[in-house]
Amino acid sequence: MSTKYIFVTGGVTSSLGKGILSASLAKLLQARGFSVTIQKLDPYINVDPGTLNPYEHGECYVTEDGAETDLDLGHYERFLNIPTSQANNITTGRIYQTVINKERRGDYLGKTVQIIPHITDEIKRHIKYLGNKGNFDFILTEIGGTVGDIESLPYIEAVRQLKWEMGKNVLVIHLTLVPFLSASGELKTKPTQHSVKALLENGVQPDILVLRTEHELNDGIKKKVALFCNVAEDAVVQSIDVSTIYEVPLKMKEEKLDVTVLKKFGVSLGKEPELDSWNDFLNKHKNPKSEITVGLVGKYVELHDAYKSIAESFIHAGAANECKVNLKYIHSEEINRRNVETMLTGLDGILVAPGFGHRGISGKIEAARYARENKIPYLGVCLGLQIAVIEFARNVLGFTGADSTEMNEVTKFPVIDLMEEQKSVTNMGGTMRLGAFNCQIKKGSKLFNAYKKELISERHRHRYEFNDKYLNDFVKAGFKPVGINPENKLVEAMELDGHPWFVGVQYHPEYSSTVLNPSPLFVEFIRACKENKRKL
Ligand code: GLN
Repeated sequence: MSTKYIFVTGGVTSSLGKGILSASLAKLLQARGFSVTIQKLDPYINVDPGTLNPYEHGECYVTEDGAETDLDLGHYERFLNIPTSQANNITTGRIYQTVINKERRGDYLGKTVQIIPHITDEIKRHIKYLGNKGNFDFILTEIGGTVGDIESLPYIEAVRQLKWEMGKNVLVIHLTLVPFLSASGELKTKPTQHSVKALLENGVQPDILVLRTEHELNDGIKKKVALFCNVAEDAVVQSIDVSTIYEVPLKMKEEKLDVTVLKKFGVSLGKEPELDSWNDFLNKHKNPKSEITVGLVGKYVELHDAYKSIAESFIHAGAANECKVNLKYIHSEEINRRNVETMLTGLDGILVAPGFGHRGISGKIEAARYARENKIPYLGVCLGLQIAVIEFARNVLGFTGADSTEMNEVTKFPVIDLMEEQKSVTNMGGTMRLGAFNCQIKKGSKLFNAYKKELISERHRHRYEFNDKYLNDFVKAGFKPVGINPENKLVEAMELDGHPWFVGVQYHPEYSSTVLNPSPLFVEFIRACKENKRKL
């Protein structure tokens, strides 16, 4: 069968969950035995989200091939259990950059370069790129933003052209909101009608409408939407609020979204979706046998999306432990030496989160000290490892003023530093270590106990490294490297002797955690937290 393209657009408001809808539909198609991938088109002008403040768009998700991408790609991987790549995320900035580079090279042979056809052609080329490889039955493309925005116009135009070019091989699903007016006790379809009109003005008739709602939609409402929006009645699908995003595929199955899609494409339905292990996960997630509270110490805690992959890793690994993990978000800027005890008391484990820049550093150092001294399980992720190293250097090794050169360039003890070869590169982002790298694990370590193998590969996103110059001091005092990059010998992971569970990793284990493959490190961390709670 030729590759089929499914576009997911959004109307009425943002944050309706296009990413989760796309991932859920893709999951159902995958569970029927089809090969599927999802890509995201982002209408902003940044070339990638790498330089965006997490407060703007939440976490920056990193793929195995080192692309800094939108956090929705994290959902795609967590649902589908297959890696994405640079090709799965494109922004307006990158599209324009490519077109302008072509213009400078003279590729357009003196033509006037315009949004149509040059920008739209470039968008179409990107949309079809993964499909041209012939590896996928279905390519889902999520279009960021809301229909009617100026920014998304070229993307909608590209969809219109593709629908015209490829006919039966293209479907458009439009996700909208049916608000409930509590004063009159009514569900309202007008915003949906208007947003479909906006799509029609741009020449795109949606094939399927998915309606987000807080209350059950009766047949009358669905019929009305079908009639006014010019779609078949079975193509109006309800998406009701659920307690966990991982239930959405089951809800979409109940609504037969996958069946409607396959019928519209004229593809035979094949077998029923096989969701046994998915259901097993959900069952464990919803019926935990124990409960722990973990403190997530970070500086972007006001926006939980800033730590999306970490929060989801706790859900996957919690289910594997049949344990409910209550995540307590703690602002590192609010922690100091005097209040650390009260701020962190009652926690069964502490995770110090990734981050950049010096804001909130001293609170993180206090949190690491508290975990070390009180023998509370500690997981340091990226900056969280660097923090543990700085804390140990200052308070155990007696290196007064020890620091990372990211925070203090002239520190006497640069225990975390740039590598020599990075120092000459000044371009922001240019020195970043990005993507998957190997890590050789020391047998007998807690890290080995987690992964149960000696060679692993995990993703990175950082500039600074443990400074080998101080390795002996740390080893002698009992804070030891247990993971090393076999190629360049950089320290990947460290563990503290004489502590129940104190592990810091330079990599980001949260990016590779999925529903079906929870991160082994998070699974072990939760196990240690449960143990710690039992002992109290
Ligand atoms: N700021 C640190 C570095 O660049 C850590 C980055 C992170 O936590 N992802 O090395």
